[in-house]
Amino acid sequence: MRNLQVNGERLWASLMELAQIGATAKGGVCRLAASDLDAEARRLFIRWCEEAGCTVRVDRIGNIFARRAGRNPDLAPVMTGSHLDTQPTGGRFDGAYGVMAGLEIVRTLNDLGYETEAPIEVVAWTNEEGSRFSPAMVGSGVFAGVFDLSYGLERPDNATGVTLGAELERIGFAGSEPVGGHKVAAYFEAHIEQGPILEAAQKPIGVVTGAQGQRWYEITVTGQEAHAGPTPMPRRRDALVGAARMIDAVNRIGHAHAPYACATVGFVQASPNSRNTIPGRVFFTVDFRHPNDVVLTEMDRELRQACDDAAAASGGLEVEVKEFWYFPPTPFDPALVGRVRDAAAALGQPHQDIISGAGHDAVYMARVAPTAMVFVPCVGGISHNEIEDAKPEDLTAGCAVLLNALLESAEQTSRA
Ligand SMILES: [Zn+2]
Repeated sequence: MRNLQVNGERLWASLMELAQIGATAKGGVCRLAASDLDAEARRLFIRWCEEAGCTVRVDRIGNIFARRAGRNPDLAPVMTGSHLDTQPTGGRFDGAYGVMAGLEIVRTLNDLGYETEAPIEVVAWTNEEGSRFSPAMVGSGVFAGVFDLSYGLERPDNATGVTLGAELERIGFAGSEPVGGHKVAAYFEAHIEQGPILEAAQKPIGVVTGAQGQRWYEITVTGQEAHAGPTPMPRRRDALVGAARMIDAVNRIGHAHAPYACATVGFVQASPNSRNTIPGRVFFTVDFRHPNDVVLTEMDRELRQACDDAAAASGGLEVEVKEFWYFPPTPFDPALVGRVRDAAAALGQPHQDIISGAGHDAVYMARVAPTAMVFVPCVGGISHNEIEDAKPEDLTAGCAVLLNALLESAEQTSRA
């Protein structure tokens, strides 16, 4: 381990200058994917990369790759980055931190005159947030072959219907490079945690071992509509009473698999939704998350059992449990995760292993390249909010860990 440091003041200054583009009155950022402001941020990033001696290429879905040459041009690059787009009421660090940390690494290596064996590429992925064009992580998803290019380009703006492809053309970022197909030796992404764990533990570095798996369900409970007055209690088949018992079970399943399980019912619709009619039908959704597929499968079994039991105990209801979406847990590459952990230890930074609760470009990149992530705390665990904040010293520590872990890979490549 080299224990190289980065220039934290320069990193912070770049983050603050970038945050001016789309700055909101409450101190946040609104820089939607493929908007004029996104284009302005992209141009600033490219200018800084070119000033740092990088060669910049843009692919057809608008992903930007800034390459710092290595000693051996035949080697696949070691890549790092994140995204420049934000939520409508987003913060200054989500995404921007990972891109600016990559740029700071290039600047630091330039200061040191450090030549790596493999090239280093700093990437800014298109439309990570998925708030203007859904789904999320479109640029990295197309790069990783999760989505077809045409699917990505045809994503409509949620409000106006204009496509991502048309907007990329308009802002001058429908690039000429084919998407994907260029080999990546390793991918590292630095990101704010967007949760409260590191701050509570007073650890500046989270060694991200993987991302949670998710199972989403749509559940329909059917009973019988009847008059709220003349129908005696023992005669009722009240779908909402059954659904309430099922929703309580969802919450209990989440608690039973602590600390990593998450279990949420976020949408409920009762019908006919009339105050003096016993509900005949209820539709609700379930969102289960866990980093371990075995546990996620056990949660699935418990959900189905709980729904059957609640239906039987509520006057003999019918229940349909439909799995709507499944996203498998993504373990990151053990060797790269080890490099992040070793770099944190060598730099004397308190650190702990952590699982990503949110989706990131790294989750798709893990399908095509060895991947790892570095988390740093954010104040109060708050993100996707204009008050999102992070401490300069934590951002600096995360960037230094990223640099040293990445350098291990950039040199390892030569020995592969
Ligand atoms: Zn992000």
